Amino acid sequence: MNQVDYLRISLIDRCNFRCQYCMPEGAELDYILKQNLLTDEELLTLIEEVFIPVGFTRFRLTGGEPLLRPRVVELVRAIASFPQTQDLSMTTNGFLLAPMAQSLYDVGLRRINISLDSLDPDIFDQIIGNRGRSHWQDVWNGIQAAYRVGFDPLKLNVVVIPNVNDHEVLDLAALTIDKQWHVRFIEFMPIGNAQLFGDRGWISSQELRQSIRARWGLTESKVRGSGPADVFQIPRAKGTLGFISQMSECFCDRCNRMRLSADGWLRPCLLNETGQIDLKTALRAGISTAELREQVRELLALKPEINFKQRFAGTRTGAYTRTMSQIGG
Ligand code: SAM
Repeated sequence: MNQVDYLRISLIDRCNFRCQYCMPEGAELDYILKQNLLTDEELLTLIEEVFIPVGFTRFRLTGGEPLLRPRVVELVRAIASFPQTQDLSMTTNGFLLAPMAQSLYDVGLRRINISLDSLDPDIFDQIIGNRGRSHWQDVWNGIQAAYRVGFDPLKLNVVVIPNVNDHEVLDLAALTIDKQWHVRFIEFMPIGNAQLFGDRGWISSQELRQSIRARWGLTESKVRGSGPADVFQIPRAKGTLGFISQMSECFCDRCNRMRLSADGWLRPCLLNETGQIDLKTALRAGISTAELREQVRELLALKPEINFKQRFAGTRTGAYTRTMSQIGG
């Protein structure tokens, strides 16, 4: 088994986009009330006194949209400054990134993943549920700013949805040829919009690789922080292509992560809702961090069993009680 040392932290469940596959417009979403969000102080206490002592050293900030979290730059600074922090990264939609990229880098963020599901502004706006001024250019500016500032690796996440953006896979893959950008294709999961999933289904990474291979050829490659992605490269390209195949493959035996939601629930497995611990309520009830460490240690010991044996428990109905934006995608 892999050592579980990677924590994905949702800073906020709210998002400024309404991606069709994640939190579609009109879907009832119960946002976490402000008083139920972990405060900065609670989050930092949990990281320093619970997660780091049990072996977590790598952290990713996500959401919702992490750049909507008030004082996010200060939080990044604080997490980056723990001596045990070996890696700190963020997943963002990039919309607010351009003016913040330099400050985030300066306080210690070094890696960033930006979601970019389409190169066509109209399709992009349709996917993100935008009916006003196009948001594509702001996201593109955010990507360029992150590249200039020096985030490395800079990854672009693409969720491939049949008959929505699958015809753009080659164009998106081509972004890696001239720039050191790392495009990651993610199989669409039945979390967030069961109806869209039911109507369209998902496309396997293998099928995507076949079309890319037919166009340019494909060789195996590597990139830092690739986690569950299978990494390839177009021959002589500067960047790489990653494939995250959680629908077509089981990579539980490579799983090295847990997720902490913005309201303090620790979740041992993305695709399984059992085993979660409500750390915020415990902390506010005065339970010591020593006791919480023990609870997390026990959960770490149970994780292989949760990953493997109940892997499909949450997917049988296709319905999860929380979307990716609520879990911390
Ligand atoms: N707002 C940020 C963003 O857009 O990247 C961070 C949060 S978002 C929930 C994190 C990642 O989850 C994104 O790359 C998004 O595409 C992915 N995601 C959300 N719902 C998904 C689904 N049903 N299937 C596959 N990926 C999904």
